[in-house]
Amino acid sequence: MHYPLIICDYRKEMSVAGNIEKLEERIQKTCDYARRKRDEITLMGVSKFVPVNLIDEAYRSGIRCFGESRVKEAEEKLNAFKSGHSDARFHLIGSLQRNKAKQAALFFDCIQSADRDEIIVELAKHSPQRKEPLEIMLELHTGEETKNGFQNIDALFKAAELVLGSEKLKLTGLMTMAPFTADTALIRSSFRQLASARDDIEKRFPGNALCLSMGMSNDFEIAIEEGSTLLRIGSAIFKD
Ligand SMILES: *Cc1c(COP(=O)(O)O)cnc(C)c1O
Repeated sequence: MHYPLIICDYRKEMSVAGNIEKLEERIQKTCDYARRKRDEITLMGVSKFVPVNLIDEAYRSGIRCFGESRVKEAEEKLNAFKSGHSDARFHLIGSLQRNKAKQAALFFDCIQSADRDEIIVELAKHSPQRKEPLEIMLELHTGEETKNGFQNIDALFKAAELVLGSEKLKLTGLMTMAPFTADTALIRSSFRQLASARDDIEKRFPGNALCLSMGMSNDFEIAIEEGSTLLRIGSAIFKD
């Protein structure tokens, strides 16, 4: 009766820790190929719909940055975990409704999905209660995947000005989602648009070094090649 043992070994290989190990190998390989340093790239665990015990497993494997797509889910699921793990950071990566802005501003370290002026104004209004400024990334619409995001560089400039004009907000980066397609040229073009927008904003507002949040489970290797400094990985860490 050797089968149960084999099944057991197989399951062990499919652990969060094992997934992260395999992911790290792929990230390192791509960094070598692209002549980039591994330590300039943050690996975020996208933990939406993931139970806390698996999030904790990722934490124990070294992940310190987590992405959630819904304010209410994040609060309910992660409040206790957050107070017990003071070095963990939580980013909102899903689209934010105006009536959730206050909750979001108080729970998250960073809002990556700032996608319209109205929501930036709302976040600024609710951030004075925070100790640290709320980090803001501006989402750029670069593909047809969702309708979310600022549509062009002029809209980004205007939004950047809004963030920079608020004492309790800190502009930390740009974010995009590439189209979900097998066409790697389209994906690459989406990431290039974000990198080029980053260059334009850094030129226009000197002294603000911006992070590039791009790359998910199915396209992170292209994102690394195109300069990503923050990978948002869900299924490659938490599934299979
Ligand atoms: C779900 C999600 C991810 C992670 O996607 P995977 O394909 O599971 O890695 C990244 N970014 C955003 C904005 C998401 O909503």
